[in-house]
Amino acid sequence: MTGTAITATAANLPLDNSFATLPPDFYTRLMPTPLPAPYLVGVSTPAAALLGLDPARLAEADFVALLAGNAVPDSARPLAAVYSGHQFGVWAGQLGDGRAILLGDMASTAGPMELQLKGAGMTPYSRMGDGRAVLRSSIREFLCSEAMHALGIPTSRALSVAGSDQYIMRETPETSAVVLRMAPSFVRFGSFEHWFHKDKPEQLKLLADYVIARFYPQLAATANPYQGLLEAVTRRTAHMIAHWQAVGFMHGVMNTDNMSILGLTLDYGPYGFMEAFDAQHICNHTDQQGRYSYAMQPQIGHWNCYALGQALLPLIGDTDAAQRALDVYQPEFGAKIDELMLAKLGLARAASPEQQEDDRMLFDAMFTLMQDNHVDFTLFFRRLGNLRAQDPAQDAPLRDLFLDRPAFDAWAERYRDRLRQEGRGDAARKLAMDAVNPKYILRNYLAQVAIEKAQNKDYSELARLLTVLQKPFDEQPEHESYAALPPDWASHLEVSCSS
Ligand code: AMP
Ligand code: MG
Repeated sequence: MTGTAITATAANLPLDNSFATLPPDFYTRLMPTPLPAPYLVGVSTPAAALLGLDPARLAEADFVALLAGNAVPDSARPLAAVYSGHQFGVWAGQLGDGRAILLGDMASTAGPMELQLKGAGMTPYSRMGDGRAVLRSSIREFLCSEAMHALGIPTSRALSVAGSDQYIMRETPETSAVVLRMAPSFVRFGSFEHWFHKDKPEQLKLLADYVIARFYPQLAATANPYQGLLEAVTRRTAHMIAHWQAVGFMHGVMNTDNMSILGLTLDYGPYGFMEAFDAQHICNHTDQQGRYSYAMQPQIGHWNCYALGQALLPLIGDTDAAQRALDVYQPEFGAKIDELMLAKLGLARAASPEQQEDDRMLFDAMFTLMQDNHVDFTLFFRRLGNLRAQDPAQDAPLRDLFLDRPAFDAWAERYRDRLRQEGRGDAARKLAMDAVNPKYILRNYLAQVAIEKAQNKDYSELARLLTVLQKPFDEQPEHESYAALPPDWASHLEVSCSS
């Protein structure tokens, strides 16, 4: 932990701002807009620990003011960054931090972390927006950031939600809130696209050199650092999306302005976790074409890397070099998803290419079966860990998830055959599978229950849900109900971009 931060007051919180070393055309300096009479809604204890902050201190007035954007540390140099992007496959032009304000970066146990206030007021990039975020979407971002981190998936983090009784207009009026979120950098693919489309190669180079020096320093001395950057980001993006697929996470708005240059899950909006398995599932009800459906995510990730590649092309110098960097996507995604799926099924990698192909067919047959039977993604994998290699008599809890029991039995027999090739016993395999197949995920209805209570000023459910999600792989007998199938009312929940 950072000794200075433990004794820090909100005013003397030690902040640097590396992004502000870039020239002024990369951002606009401005203060957050105060949130009327703010109060603390939630705090993530592990996120506070990352900064060496005592979570209890965050409830005190000086810190609540900071978390709401009503006061900034003396050392802060607040700014809103400019970026552009492709939205739903179409060039959208300039976007930028329309409601997020970067305070600066702070030392953490994971290296320097940028602290950003989301929903902290209008900026020159707000376009038609009001610069605010509603409590509902702020809680969703807060919970999911911390849940994804606990699942071992690269993501931005969230320290807190501060709320206010100030109403803002969405589909209906809702109260506003501010999330303090953290990442080593919030630079996006769209930050590069911005300078490419403005035809400003000097700025493009400055940004690439900044990102390389700070986050990919090993590339600086290579023959073509910009090709190396594209390749490294492509690889990280492929890995991140393999993790999403393996846990059934759907981002919902994979626009290039929401893609992190560090391969972190960023900008939580209408995301969702897969429940009844449907590869075509669209979690964002405004995405009518299903561009960002579960099954599309891997190829959209690649498409987004192409958009980054196009933006970096003036620096990389030749199309072949850029193409070679982008070509790592498919093998990297393939290798990572194979690795994650094998672990989810408790299998070691088969020795021969033929056996590896057999394993892929086993996975495909499993997904087809899950799709046909609308099987809950999370319950399926968690219960699969209890299967005995020799004894189908124990299959019931898993088998009961299927309507077509004979089809399940046929698949389970294939799986059991495969298990018998493994040296590992049932108990050891279950232990390993439980460590990769979460018991607790952020189901939409769980978030909804916590949100509705918070809207009535009861924050206890939010705190409880966060604690459950911070140990997603543990059995938590006292929280068994959080692992249950969604209730009937939840099938009507819809999540849109209106945040
Ligand atoms: P998102 O889809 O949330 O990633 O946002 C896309 C763009 O719209 C970004 O430039 C955001 O800053 C901006 N934006 C979204 N909501 C608001 C809002 N309420 N006020 C201002 N800008 C917003
Ligand atoms: Mg965004």
